Amino acid sequence: MAGEGEGPAIGIDLGTTYSCVAVWQHDRVEVIVNDQGNRTTPSYVAFTDKERLVGEAAKNQVARNPTNSIFDAKRLIGRRFSDSLIQNDIKLWPFKVIEGPTDKPMIVVTHKGEEKHFAAEEISSMVLKKMREIAEAYLCTTVKNAVITVPAYFNDLQRKATKDAGNIAGLNVMRIINEPTAASIGYGLDKVGIGKRNVLIFDLGGGTTDISLLTIDDGTFEVKAVAGDTHLGGEDFDNKMVKHFVEIFKRHKKEDISGNARALRRLRTACERAKRILSSAIETTIEVDSLYNGIDFSSSITRAKFAELNMELFRKSVELVEKCLTDAKMDKGGVHDVVLTGGSSRIPKVQQLLQDFFDGKQLNKSINPDEAVAYGAAVQAANLAGMGNEKVQHIVLLDVTPLSLGVRVLGGEMSVVIPRNTTIPTKMEHNYTTVCDNQTSILFSVYEGERVRVVDNNWLGEFELSPIPSAPEGVPQVKVCFEIDANGILNVSAVEQTTGVSCKITITNYKASLSTEEIHRMVLDAKKYEVEDDEHRKKAKAKEALENYTYKMRSIVSDKEIGDKFDATGKEKIEAAIKHVILWLDGIQHAKADEFEDKLIGLELICNPIIAKTSRRQ
Ligand code: AMP
Repeated sequence: MAGEGEGPAIGIDLGTTYSCVAVWQHDRVEVIVNDQGNRTTPSYVAFTDKERLVGEAAKNQVARNPTNSIFDAKRLIGRRFSDSLIQNDIKLWPFKVIEGPTDKPMIVVTHKGEEKHFAAEEISSMVLKKMREIAEAYLCTTVKNAVITVPAYFNDLQRKATKDAGNIAGLNVMRIINEPTAASIGYGLDKVGIGKRNVLIFDLGGGTTDISLLTIDDGTFEVKAVAGDTHLGGEDFDNKMVKHFVEIFKRHKKEDISGNARALRRLRTACERAKRILSSAIETTIEVDSLYNGIDFSSSITRAKFAELNMELFRKSVELVEKCLTDAKMDKGGVHDVVLTGGSSRIPKVQQLLQDFFDGKQLNKSINPDEAVAYGAAVQAANLAGMGNEKVQHIVLLDVTPLSLGVRVLGGEMSVVIPRNTTIPTKMEHNYTTVCDNQTSILFSVYEGERVRVVDNNWLGEFELSPIPSAPEGVPQVKVCFEIDANGILNVSAVEQTTGVSCKITITNYKASLSTEEIHRMVLDAKKYEVEDDEHRKKAKAKEALENYTYKMRSIVSDKEIGDKFDATGKEKIEAAIKHVILWLDGIQHAKADEFEDKLIGLELICNPIIAKTSRRQ
């Protein structure tokens, strides 16, 4: 077990738009506030000509620097560049994404005047590191161990990539757990002793929809089925609104802003704000000064219009509930509680559709939709680290795999080895044989998905088993073993059995995932950025100290009462030194921390003795 005796273990909800970190402390979960006093932190990373910014600071400068401000890395992680969903997203993102080696999407930014390419894992690792720092500042100690959450519907590649991101951030990822399962802990932790309850968690976040049906019984959280869509959430609702207003702008102002990253970014921010307002008001206005070519934009939108723009997506999210119940073989009448989580579950129309689906049943809004996932992750982290009270130690999480896993067989069909919604960790085997006489090798292609033909499913990777002893077709017996660990990550192996010759292979070369060397390189890069960030902070501090001292001296000598106490030469000397430093500060473009420090020492050497002499004289 990782973590025991190694300091605190935190829970991180790595969200598409916001992230949240929590820790078990003083016998309860503490959601940790960031340096701005907020309990959630934007999942944003920005690159400027001077520095790298993460979180609030990155989001705050986004309108000024749209092409180098990265968000939505979670929508990219573990996906291929050619994925049609990624291609659609690219059209709306103000930053550039290109095809990297092996179909991997790479984010392009300009940092300190240089073009840099980042994998989504690297951007996510920067957000994770920020969350870690927030926890470290609060706990006043180094934090290594973390439980990170992912959407229940994340596939194998997306989970593995998230774990890689954690490792690049220098974290020991104790466990990857599903967001709705984590949220259910927040809901069910205190419900010990009230008997078995069937709970449906409806998690509609910034980028994803996740539905989980669980049975909670005295500290055991058993997931019966999950359903979801990793590309359906608040951002998609924002997109619909952005598209709507682009059309309105075109109609009214005869200008097309769709190619202008800055205008789109500003419009999107206004739309997101309006969307939130529409969860409590029935109408709101959108106003963006000088949106495009100096033209101001002002328009209004009603809650009904917003719902109409998104009705198809809202319906899709509720249909997933039906799918989840069917998979769990449960009638909707058997659900005791329908629990809402995820920021977008606040949308009234979504709530209404869900309530209608459950024949008017009251929805449960008792957990905080922004914090419940991090809360559950922190409880699980404490459980794994052997911390927490009896209740925490008593918790048992039984999750499931969201997608069926199998191999390609003759005719391009999918032979399922592990069906979806199987409880994990699990290990399942299947026997395969050759299709030709004297076949000496077998190529296994591994897929996930529910379709009959593998072309319609998601290819994960492949491996070749050889040598196979020469024999007529159908004689060799190959046992293929699929093993899913508690993180939901798959390992596949195969053993040739007929002749006792065995060979075992584990898939490691997933096409879109990072190799060990790449992760190593990214860890080194992360360290490099850490050094650069530290340097920048040191420089900012040194500059601030120099400015503070300079302006303090200036106010002393120019103060009527105090300034007159200096002798004329002393005062002149100080004034000349201050003038020199202010001119230097105004003129410098690039200076290092030690240059500021040297200037400060120089100024102090001139000013301090004169001040000391003056005060002695008084
Ligand atoms: P999460 O991933 O759970 O943090 O959810 C973030 C998403 O929830 C973002 O797309 C937000 O715009 C959205 N959101 C937050 N508050 C509201 C609200 N009051 N009404 C509608 N959407 C919201």
